[in-house]
Amino acid sequence: MVKYIFVSGGVISGVGKGVATASVGRILKEYGYKVTAIKIDPYINCDAGTLRPTEHGEVWVTEDGGEIDQDLGNYERFLETPILKNNAITTGQIYKTIIEKERRGDYLGKTVSVIPHVPEEIKRRIEEASKNYDIVLVEIGGTVGDYENLPFLFASKSMELELGRENVCHILVTYMPIPSHIDEMKTKLTQLAIRLLRENGIQPDFIFCRGRYSLDDIRKRKIESSCNVFPNSVISMPDVTGEGTAGTIYTVPLDLEKEKFGQRILERLNLSKRREPDWKTWAEMVRRISFAEGEVNIALVGKYIDVGNFQLTDSYLSVSSALQHAGVKNNVKIKIHWVNSKDIEKGSVDLSKYDGLIVPGGFGNSGVEGKILAIEYARKNNLPFLGLCYGLQMAVIEYARNVCNLNANTSEVDPDAEHKVIDILPGQIGIFTKGGTMRLGGYPAFLKPDSLIRKIYGLNEVSERHRHRYEVNPSYHKILEENGLVISGKSPDGRLAEFIELPGHKFFVATQAHPEFKSYPTKPSPLFDAFVRACVLVEGVKNYPKEI
Ligand code: GLN
Repeated sequence: MVKYIFVSGGVISGVGKGVATASVGRILKEYGYKVTAIKIDPYINCDAGTLRPTEHGEVWVTEDGGEIDQDLGNYERFLETPILKNNAITTGQIYKTIIEKERRGDYLGKTVSVIPHVPEEIKRRIEEASKNYDIVLVEIGGTVGDYENLPFLFASKSMELELGRENVCHILVTYMPIPSHIDEMKTKLTQLAIRLLRENGIQPDFIFCRGRYSLDDIRKRKIESSCNVFPNSVISMPDVTGEGTAGTIYTVPLDLEKEKFGQRILERLNLSKRREPDWKTWAEMVRRISFAEGEVNIALVGKYIDVGNFQLTDSYLSVSSALQHAGVKNNVKIKIHWVNSKDIEKGSVDLSKYDGLIVPGGFGNSGVEGKILAIEYARKNNLPFLGLCYGLQMAVIEYARNVCNLNANTSEVDPDAEHKVIDILPGQIGIFTKGGTMRLGGYPAFLKPDSLIRKIYGLNEVSERHRHRYEVNPSYHKILEENGLVISGKSPDGRLAEFIELPGHKFFVATQAHPEFKSYPTKPSPLFDAFVRACVLVEGVKNYPKEI
């Protein structure tokens, strides 16, 4: 019998429900269970592929080609096992299925209603994604009290009734504000959130209290007594970044274990531990993030950077996570400098102060010339460079223009360019709908013998995840290679340039894929690992390849 843990949020959104869910998952995995996590997003979009990263955070790509919410990326990083697209459920998907069924006549003669048909479809999807797992976490996006997450809370209660209380439990993640004029942590909003959850018939088994500091015992007992919740069900979840903290979300499972959470939730679900948890490697990873010996400064050139008064670094969450994982392996702290490509165009950026450059994925024409200028600087000045997807395409344009002397561009930016060195993938011609239509998910590449990339992966064939509509135009492979660019990885049919590199450079590698989606905290992506190592090496052209 699968056990379910529903995680909902109270008070405000954005308090770290995703990290809480992922952390609980990691703990239960350590106790020997097969765990997965599902994210429910109450919006009407069918997936996250059409959402703007600056508003909603990064679009996470699964091995099977799903474009889903970045929280699922955190699940995968914490669980260190792939999460598939079925694990992302949205209101849009639910209604789409129900309406299609209705049109087909599956409900013939019946009135199709929100209750029971919507919760039935929600439950069907949850059960579908739960096959082959012992424990399934289900995070309900939004905040209790929102109109749009009511059907999901209803479905969770209904699963509790159907499956029995010992098979379903509920965690509420709330926020504890400290108003500056009284400088004291207030519990009232948490009490109200518990009440709102109860209006849906749900009694929280655990309440995770997020806040700047740990919650003291007085406040824990106050919440328990004033809300009639089970003794010892209030768990403190203080901030992990800022002064005096571990500085990383990966400490959360360890912090929860200090409160003996694993044992407590196993008891609640009537389970016993299958093995003794072994936190050694995980704890060492956390320690290294907090106390790494060296530091490298990496410029991440993007266009999604300034959003009002905030810097929405979430748009590149997987890239920064992959860098952090590689930093752990190389025992260095990674300092990411968010460089706006438009500032490079204005000439106001000094790239010489960085140890490495990343040009990540992107779309459209805004800021592309700045990215090309940054790559030209890296190429000419032996600055380690890693290009990801659009980053590879920009590197090819730079090489075509400045080395091959072609008046080159991508047809994404200039459909009338003289030399379209980057052009639409044949399979994309004639596709006009946007949702889920790119080349998506894991695809294999064959790596060139004796290339740097072959050495980095240690394999002849690798599979990385993709999300693009354009490719290096195969009719330009020859001229690029004749001029010294090495296409070091190609799709099995030999058509698509999957990896490029420049021999003789300290590190100049780019890929059409997004290896950042397959980087785990204790098992970094080989490509990010090698890039960071190149950034760490002070002098390198000659001895670098020997060290890799
Ligand atoms: N815009 C480019 C394409 O569609 C690159 C996409 C990306 O960087 N993910 O091919």
